Amino acid sequence: MDLALLQRTLTDAGQPSFRAGQVWSWAARGAAGYADMTNVPAALRDELDERVPFSTLAVSHQAQSSDGTVKALFHTHDGRPVEAVLMRYRDGRRSLCVSSQSGCPLTCTFCATGSMAYGRNLTTSEILDQALHFRRIEDVDHLVFMGMGEPMMNLDNVLAACRRLPDIGITNRRTTISTVGWVPGIDRLAQTGMPLRLAFSLHAADDALRSQIMPVNDRYPLLDVLAACRRWHHAKRQPVYIEYVMLAGVNDRHEQAVALAGLLDRKSFKVNLIPYNPSGSPYDGSGPDAIEAFRAALEQHGMRVTVRLTRGRDIAAACGQLAAATG
Ligand code: SAH
Repeated sequence: MDLALLQRTLTDAGQPSFRAGQVWSWAARGAAGYADMTNVPAALRDELDERVPFSTLAVSHQAQSSDGTVKALFHTHDGRPVEAVLMRYRDGRRSLCVSSQSGCPLTCTFCATGSMAYGRNLTTSEILDQALHFRRIEDVDHLVFMGMGEPMMNLDNVLAACRRLPDIGITNRRTTISTVGWVPGIDRLAQTGMPLRLAFSLHAADDALRSQIMPVNDRYPLLDVLAACRRWHHAKRQPVYIEYVMLAGVNDRHEQAVALAGLLDRKSFKVNLIPYNPSGSPYDGSGPDAIEAFRAALEQHGMRVTVRLTRGRDIAAACGQLAAATG
């Protein structure tokens, strides 16, 4: 729901100032439409129905994976594709993966989003409407900005959305912003009072390889990003999650695990190894044995390491697979 338009419409209609909060609170709790809002006068509900679309996004396609993961493809009013995913875990956790941009201006070579056309930053309302779509299906409690786009390039709208996520059931402590290593964004995040979590997509432990697979590394080299991550850790007293996508013969050798451990320290960082999901790129994913050996090497060098559970691969909803063409 376009919250600025809602506010304007209510003001024009001479409504009391509490009305916008009342409408938002219904939406945030999963109301299906204005008709549900029983404490809003019926005539006003009709007027809102006409003047303020209930969502800024239209659902174009929705698919459910055999593991319960649900992917939705939306379009904005100007026809830009946006994808978001609901992941259901056995322990009851419901985690959303949302987009901050339509497409992405960065060109990470292993990522499906990087190969599609960049559209634009999403508005605060377009970010929130992804979460509200799934909130209408069921309760949700975690959210990661790991869909399309680089959240640090749209940080004003991302943070404005994060301020409202707790109303939907997702606290800032359960919200993670994932970045390619956009240094000014990391520093800004360190200065906000919001207890958001930070994930850094590192993927290669030396500048030459990292620049080759993630051109953004030329702009923000690895050591500069790690210094920013340590400043963030110092301010927030929380570990930075290091994301590392496992590419066979590219970044999965033993000495690369040792080099990675050498860059990090156990207190400030936790490593999350990500099995590669086919994205039409020239890479092959490391096999389970290679991932396990890499994990063991990191652990031997003192790191805390987990291997990411892959979800939704059969519906192209796994990391790096969010591209409108596959929707
Ligand atoms: N731009 C942000 C957020 C979006 S990507 C970032 O890069 O962090 C979310 C995660 O998915 C990143 O760690 C990204 O590197 C990873 N990813 C991209 N392509 C992938 C693929 N094909 N397989 C597995 N993970 C991938």
